[in-house]
Amino acid sequence: MIKLIKAEKTEFIYWDNFEYKINDNILVSEDATRYISSNELLNVCRPIFTKYYKKNVFMLDYLFWIDNIDIQCIDFKVENNTFRDIDFERSIKTYFLNNLKCFNCGKTYKGALSVDPVLVYPNNFELKEKKIKMINDENKIVTCQKCGNSFTSKVLYIFPDLVID
Ligand SMILES: [Zn+2]
Repeated sequence: MIKLIKAEKTEFIYWDNFEYKINDNILVSEDATRYISSNELLNVCRPIFTKYYKKNVFMLDYLFWIDNIDIQCIDFKVENNTFRDIDFERSIKTYFLNNLKCFNCGKTYKGALSVDPVLVYPNNFELKEKKIKMINDENKIVTCQKCGNSFTSKVLYIFPDLVID
């Protein structure tokens, strides 16, 4: 299922699968599917495409819910048009980080989801501020699992099965 929806006053294309193909019209920092299996990704996030300012260009982000919910419930609601803003309030756009390294202990993690502090919610600066406040206030930023040191980026999730020791 691929669907253009509007939630929290922002429009994006919601995918309930990771079968997209990257091309020149898609802006993405790192394609998560190159490093993590679809099954694992499906438990954690959803790919969403947001229209960029340039014509026919889309930004690919990974929508992550900070409450560890069953995202299939969201899929179902999107598919049936029964979703509401509240279903997305606890979500935030993230980008995929390959080879996240702790500068304190040197541990390297194969994959993580991180929040870009300038993350783009087009024409919705207020929402961006709200999302950043939410993760900061609720202390959702994770630290190194080995030594507890903070990462230089705002990491929200580390893919556990792919940790390299
Ligand atoms: Zn560390």
